[in-house]
Amino acid sequence: MGEFEGRVAIVTGGTRGIGEAIARRLVDEGAHVTVFARTVDRGQALEEEIERLTFLQADVASSREVNRAVGSVYEAHQRIDFLVNNAGITRDRLLMRMRDEDWQQVIDVNLGGAFNCIRASLRYMLRAKTGAIVNISSVIATMGNPGQTNYAASKAGLIGLTRSLAKEVAGRGIRVNAVAPGFIKTEMTARLDPGVRSAYLSRIPLNREGIPTEVAALVTFLLSERSSYITGQVVDINGGLYP
Ligand code: NDP
Repeated sequence: MGEFEGRVAIVTGGTRGIGEAIARRLVDEGAHVTVFARTVDRGQALEEEIERLTFLQADVASSREVNRAVGSVYEAHQRIDFLVNNAGITRDRLLMRMRDEDWQQVIDVNLGGAFNCIRASLRYMLRAKTGAIVNISSVIATMGNPGQTNYAASKAGLIGLTRSLAKEVAGRGIRVNAVAPGFIKTEMTARLDPGVRSAYLSRIPLNREGIPTEVAALVTFLLSERSSYITGQVVDINGGLYP
């Protein structure tokens, strides 16, 4: 029997990359997992493949869509134990060339999306006096990266959100942590220019990129009772890469 038997989880952006690995791992541990994303085909394929996984089409930047989706998870299961805010996008440009929409979309999805999902889910956790939330930040939040001022700001914002919310809800039995991955092999990093990619790799002491299942293992730990005294923390997972 898995350690999350009977538990209910939401993983945003759970249809690809890191989010998919997290969703699969939670299902393996016995949880029922609902993944939110915008693209229907991929979500439906996962739903067909994986028992105990449900896909809901929801843009996390829309509070209306999130409220509806989270409400339907609760209606179906009468509980929400875990929330993983993983959905994220990049719109890289040097700041002087950054358009309003490049800035706004990244903030709205990466930071606003987490806010929307937390606000919609927290009421059920507060009522149950238990729950755990993990926000997926990035090494870029603290390291900075040219061309990613919007992304770095959104991911640094998630750290402030994590630390503050952890203090708000600790007394109610709810833990909130962040994970800051370095370079993980997914479709997001596959889009990187080969020069940028090899420059990154050369700075990683473990001398390789991480894989999504390694991040999933950390997230699973932070959701579980094995981390019952850890809250308000940002845990790095980056092969030793430091600014
Ligand atoms: P991918 O691009 O591979 O996957 C992103 C997921 O988020 C997809 O499921 C996508 O589905 C979903 N998504 C994107 N926008 C929205 C939205 N508005 N509403 C709902 N779902 C959305 O990304 P990764 O797996 O590489 O990254 C996952 C997270 O980890 C991100 O937050 C990223 O910033 C972070 N991260 C990644 C690193 C890496 O090296 N890969 C390093 C550090 C952090 P769809 O497009 O269908 O909506």
